[in-house]
Amino acid sequence: MAAIIASMSEPKSCNAALAARDLRVNWHPCTQMREHDARLPMIPIRHGEGAWLIDADGRRYLDCISSWWSNLFGHANPRIAAAIAEQAAKLNHVMFAGFTHEPAIRLAEELLRIAPPGLARAFFAGDGASAVEIALKMSFHYWHNVGRCERTRFISLMNAYHGETLGALSVSDLPLYRAVYAPLLLQPIIAPSPDWLDCEPNESAEEVAIRRLQDLREILERHAHETCAVIVEPLVQCSGGMRMHSPGYLTGLRKLCDEYEVHLIADEIAVGFGRTGTMFACEQANVTPDFLCLSKGLTGGALAMSAVLTTDRVYEAFLGDYAANNAFLHSHTFSGNPIACAAALATLAIFREEPVLENNRLLAARLAERIAPLCDHPHVSGIRQTGLIAAMDLVADRKTRTPYPPAQRRGLRFYLHGLQKGMLLRPLGDTIYFIPPYCITTDEIDRMVDTATEGISAATG
Ligand SMILES: *Cc1c(COP(=O)(O)O)cnc(C)c1O
Repeated sequence: MAAIIASMSEPKSCNAALAARDLRVNWHPCTQMREHDARLPMIPIRHGEGAWLIDADGRRYLDCISSWWSNLFGHANPRIAAAIAEQAAKLNHVMFAGFTHEPAIRLAEELLRIAPPGLARAFFAGDGASAVEIALKMSFHYWHNVGRCERTRFISLMNAYHGETLGALSVSDLPLYRAVYAPLLLQPIIAPSPDWLDCEPNESAEEVAIRRLQDLREILERHAHETCAVIVEPLVQCSGGMRMHSPGYLTGLRKLCDEYEVHLIADEIAVGFGRTGTMFACEQANVTPDFLCLSKGLTGGALAMSAVLTTDRVYEAFLGDYAANNAFLHSHTFSGNPIACAAALATLAIFREEPVLENNRLLAARLAERIAPLCDHPHVSGIRQTGLIAAMDLVADRKTRTPYPPAQRRGLRFYLHGLQKGMLLRPLGDTIYFIPPYCITTDEIDRMVDTATEGISAATG
C-alpha cells in the first residue's frame, strides 16, 4: 500500500523521482541537508561522457571543477574503464599483507619513477585523508624510532586543508570544517601562509614568500625540537579558496626543514598529476619532500585510492627485530586494491603516451586569456591562476576588496546560475574557480568562461 501511494505521488521527471528517493535515505558530504528543499537541487547523474555529466532527464552539465578536482581524462574514460573491467574479471582484491600482485608492483614502480628524485617507497591507502594520516603517523613514528620521542607536533599553514579525518583535520586551518571538532584535535603550530593575495602594496609573490619563510624560521627556532614535520599544499591551497604562492616558498621551506631537521610533508592530493603545469607541483621548486601524499587524480578520478611516497631513510628507520615493535603497523583493508591500481596504471599510461602536459599548457593559456577581461569587473577581485587552476573572488567592492556579507550567499547564486546553463561550477563560498578536466576543449573553455561571466553578473547584480 505504502509503495502504491509512493508511486502515485512520484513526480514525472526521472530527476525528481530519484532526488526524492535520495533525500529519504542518503546523507551527503559537505552539505546542509536542510537546504535540499526548494532552494538547492539534488541532481541525479546517470552517466558521464568526457567533460560532461548527463542527468536522469538527459540534461548535460560541463564538469568545470572535475568533480572535486579528481577527474583528469573525462568521465567514463574508455581506457580507464577497460582497465578496471579487465582487472575486475581477474582479481578484485587480496589482502596486502603477506600477499602482493602485479598491478601494485607496477604502480609503485611507476609512481617512484615519475616522482621527484629520492622517493623510494610507496604506501597505498584508500583516500586522501588516509594518506595524510599515514604521513603524519609515519613522521611521528620515525622520530620515535630514532630516539627523538620529544617530537610530537606538526607545523601547518594558515588556511590549510588536508582532509576531514581527525588527524588530517587537526593540521587543517579552516574554521568552517574544524572549529566544532577542536576539542578532539591535535594542536599544530600554525605558520602564516605565503598566499600572495596577502601581499603588501607593490610586494611580489616572491617577496611574500621570503617574508613568510622568515616567519617560519622564527617558528622553527622555537619549536623545531618538538616538531615532527611541516605539512604544506604545494603551490595552491585549494579548499582554502584557491590561494596560490610562489615556488620559491617551497624551495626555502625545504632548506629550512633540512636546517632544522624536520620532515617536509607535501600534500599534492589536489595539485598532483599535471594540475599545476608539471607532473607534481614540487618539481617547480626542484624539491623532494620526505613524504608525498597523492590521491584524487591518481586513478583519473575513477576510484578511491591514495599513496604516500617516502624515502629510504624513513623506511629504514622502521626495520628491526620483530620484538622491538618499530614496524609501521597501520593498515587499511583495501590497501593496494588491484582494481584501483589498474585504474591508476591506465591513468599513468595516458600521461606517458599522450602529450598531456603540453596540451594542458595550451588550455591554461586559453583560460588565462579568457578570464583576463574579468579584471575590470566591479565585483571581481584577486584573479589568479596556476596551470589549470584559475580562481577569483566575488566582492562587494573591487577597489577595497570588501567581501559580501556571507549571509548573502552570492557564491550559491552563482552556482545555481551555472546549473541552469548546464555548467557545474561549484564555488568555495564566494571564491569561484575553474579546475576543468584535461579533456576539455578550447571551445568548451570559452563556453565555461562565458557562462561564468554571466553568472557573476547574475550573482552580483
Ligand atoms: C581533497 C583533499 C584532501 C582529502 O582527500 P579525501 O580523498 O577527500 O579524503 C587532502 N588534502 C588536499 C590538499 C585535498 O585537496
